[in-house]
Amino acid sequence: MIYKKAQFDIPENLIYLDGNSLGPLPKAVSAKITQTVESEWGTQLIRGWNDCGWMQQPRQLGDRIANIVGAQAGTIVLGDTLSIKVYQAVSAALTMNPQRRVILSDTGNFPTDLYMVQGLINSLDHGYELKTVAPQDVAGAIDEQVAVVMLTQVDYRTGRIHDMQRITELTHKAGAISVWDLAHSAGAIPVELTHSACDFAVGCTYKYLNAGPGAPAFIYVRPDLIETITPALSGWLGHQAPFAFEPNYTPAPTIDRMRVGTPSVLQMAALSCALDLFDDVDMQALRQVSVQLTELFIEQVEARCPELSLASPRDAQDRGSQVSFGFEHGYAVVQALIDQGVIGDFRAPNIMRFGFTPLYISTDDVIRAVDVLESILKDKIWKDPKYQTVKAVT
Ligand SMILES: *Cc1c(COP(=O)(O)O)cnc(C)c1O
Repeated sequence: MIYKKAQFDIPENLIYLDGNSLGPLPKAVSAKITQTVESEWGTQLIRGWNDCGWMQQPRQLGDRIANIVGAQAGTIVLGDTLSIKVYQAVSAALTMNPQRRVILSDTGNFPTDLYMVQGLINSLDHGYELKTVAPQDVAGAIDEQVAVVMLTQVDYRTGRIHDMQRITELTHKAGAISVWDLAHSAGAIPVELTHSACDFAVGCTYKYLNAGPGAPAFIYVRPDLIETITPALSGWLGHQAPFAFEPNYTPAPTIDRMRVGTPSVLQMAALSCALDLFDDVDMQALRQVSVQLTELFIEQVEARCPELSLASPRDAQDRGSQVSFGFEHGYAVVQALIDQGVIGDFRAPNIMRFGFTPLYISTDDVIRAVDVLESILKDKIWKDPKYQTVKAVT
């Protein structure tokens, strides 16, 4: 079954269209966290590392995420934040291609991915260059100068999907390494990591995977590469024998080498509950419903809110599980929507963004959300001064 809203704790009468930014709370999480705190941490204390399996969580949960993103067991490990995982992936990719100096990305990429590469380049000080081109120009820009192609599969602003298979092929043909960010893909659309043959992938678990604010990120390394890559963040838990406490670093022979330090045990407990909800979900079936929801939303908004302009690809095949509309006063409209129980979000300069997650959004919700949106626009409710002040987190 795809629709399982009863298993989420979502305030009544709220239509939550922001699961692409922070997924809602799965009901089972509260009890799981309490149990982990009281029966594990509180009772077992340091024995928890062995007796409660805390140390294995990053790998076990990695295997469960592998099921969702089409990867094999033993290729994904959890930890840190996505920004850190981007750094790890790109730095390892650069060492695989030491003659080349260009890291290629697109101008639609999420800023932290670009920022992390800028910081990496500065610290390496080897003449690396971050080159960004428009998303549609990426394929044509992959040449023999390019060391690494780093892209986010689903654009966070527009929802536009890159053809992962084709771009990875072009990347490899040009002798470059591919790094894919699955922030808006994992749990949202079918991903075939093994099939894509990409070298690295990274993603987060607090968006479509619903593991909560601050939940750990994940990193994937193609199995044949794992033993060959050089971790830049050579933390003790990536060592082949962390508890030998040797003075020199030797990376683990497994995906564990992408671990850095102590895992976030409480967040991982929440993630394990959140992943339970995906156990019986077929990603192709989920995708079908997601497409129905986004198609319906676009059709309704275009029919009833002519002042908005679609900022997402019209063809459902090219669009992730979100829909964006451009409107000059988008920020104020989103504030008015939130005030009336429809939560979407706003991305500068003028994008109103709505995520559709078949696990807890129904076609009824879509219609009701457009009812509210239509009235806010028709009655110019967004003009109220209280909707104009921009908050720190948008
Ligand atoms: C959400 C998102 C991030 C967030 O990175 P954190 O380190 O988890 O804050 C990074 N990259 C992309 C593409 C995202 O969508």
